[in-house]
Amino acid sequence: QATDHTPALVIGSGYGAAVTALRLGEAGIPTLVLEMGRLWDTPGPDGKLFCATGAPDHRSMWFRTRTEAPLAQFLWLDVVNKDISPYPGVLDRVRFANMSVYVGRGVGGGSLVNGGMAVTPERAYFTEVLPTVDANAMYDTYFPRARQMLGVNTIDPAWFESTEWYRFTRISRKHAANTGLGTTFVPNVYDFGYMQREAAGQAVRSALGGEVIYGNNHGKRSLDKTYLAAALGTGNVAIETLQRARAVRRQPDGTYVVTADRIDATGKVVATRDIGCTRLFLGAGSLGTTELLVRARESGTLPDLSEHIGKGWGTNGNVMTARANHLWDTVGANQATMPVMGIDDRSNTANPVFAEIAPLPMGFEHWISLYLAITRNPERGTFTYDAATDSARLDWSQAQSQVSVNAAKKLFDRINLRNATIYRYDLFGGNKTFADDFTYHPLGGCVLGRATDDYGRVRGAPGVYVTDGALIPGSIGVNPFVTITALAERNMARVLAEDYAR
Ligand code: FAD
Repeated sequence: QATDHTPALVIGSGYGAAVTALRLGEAGIPTLVLEMGRLWDTPGPDGKLFCATGAPDHRSMWFRTRTEAPLAQFLWLDVVNKDISPYPGVLDRVRFANMSVYVGRGVGGGSLVNGGMAVTPERAYFTEVLPTVDANAMYDTYFPRARQMLGVNTIDPAWFESTEWYRFTRISRKHAANTGLGTTFVPNVYDFGYMQREAAGQAVRSALGGEVIYGNNHGKRSLDKTYLAAALGTGNVAIETLQRARAVRRQPDGTYVVTADRIDATGKVVATRDIGCTRLFLGAGSLGTTELLVRARESGTLPDLSEHIGKGWGTNGNVMTARANHLWDTVGANQATMPVMGIDDRSNTANPVFAEIAPLPMGFEHWISLYLAITRNPERGTFTYDAATDSARLDWSQAQSQVSVNAAKKLFDRINLRNATIYRYDLFGGNKTFADDFTYHPLGGCVLGRATDDYGRVRGAPGVYVTDGALIPGSIGVNPFVTITALAERNMARVLAEDYAR
């Protein structure tokens, strides 16, 4: 028996969930948001909310005894990761057999830890990926709405050309140009006005202080400052933290009950409760939402869910690589952590790649150019339910990652050849030149139009909705949060107009 009841229950507080909470709240619908991470509003003993990237402490990662940074080494040395005490830290690395997935934990989800790049996908590719979605409505209404709400802005080109903080980007642009490749500026949700003040010594450094994957103490318009603040402002939305939704079941009257575990700062489950709801909105991210639904289908609590739940998952073709520059091509000891440019070879139909020029702020000159390439890897993984561990297992092989590596390698081999440069072997472990074992962009698992209808209504569970990156079938060609946000805006507009009008 449910002890509480709420008209609308939202699981998670990332992009899809935040849009959902705001629009429900505005419509006057009492809404409860459950987030498994903490609210990042209380400074630690150092006076800061988030710890420094270079000196990570318990706040950095989700219940770990040692950090697990994406770039684990430097000059083959284990100098990057540090021992920490277990705590509900802000970045998690979820490990599956051949693929690790980085996700944000806390009120704001991925917006707390990501690079802030706010990229709208190419219209032709968007239409290819999501053919049933009206592209006119997306590009005329929902993408602009998402960008405006997220506080997207662009770097002042004149400042970009002159500042030491983006020298690393200009060097990569030069090498791309030498290869006949175009580059494009990428908008961001980091406040570039604030960044310029940081550079001028008028504001506390965050992007210029090496902060990003373990949280930004200043400058970044994360969801807690945008959508979620607005949602709370409606007076109809409440957010409860350190609450992990575990099970979903349907009641005979068509309402749902979610079982949630409350954890303490050590990770111990201190309470378990059932929350009833008329409508359930899943915004726990590609991994979280898919796991909840795969578990519900396989354990029989939502037996009518479709066979498509768990399918169509991909890495957005993510692969990281690094090049060693010549001694005269210095990248600078000072590097801003917010990427602002990508090598744009998406029009190359034989091998379309978008490679963001990533910072590697180590505080000294290292002559390294780092990239996160987004390739059009068509491989898809599948989640199944593992009853023994009560969790979702990802079926993804190393060969499936190799497809991303091959595409990225074609591009960077060209760049190296034209600039007489080589790859770095010392950064990713195992002398690898391509980091193909992790992704920042998990997408899919409950794909729009298959596991759900064309607006995220889950097939076989009327009143349950998927609102997050799980809807996108594995690839979107660019960094995904603008698309996730805009799609959630579009779906919620329809759901509020139709399902709540009944
Ligand atoms: P998420 O943002 O992942 O939110 C899901 C939330 O649900 C989380 O807060 C999680 O703790 C919570 N949750 C999960 N399971 C449960 C549960 N069972 N119960 C309760 N709560 C739960 N994208 C870009 O577009 N640009 C970038 O520059 C960029 N850089 C990135 C850098 C890093 C290091 C990472 C990790 C990601 C980056 N991304 C970037 C990806 C982007 O952050 C994600 O695509 C986006 O956050 C996904 O949004 P979402 O709504 O699907 O879910």
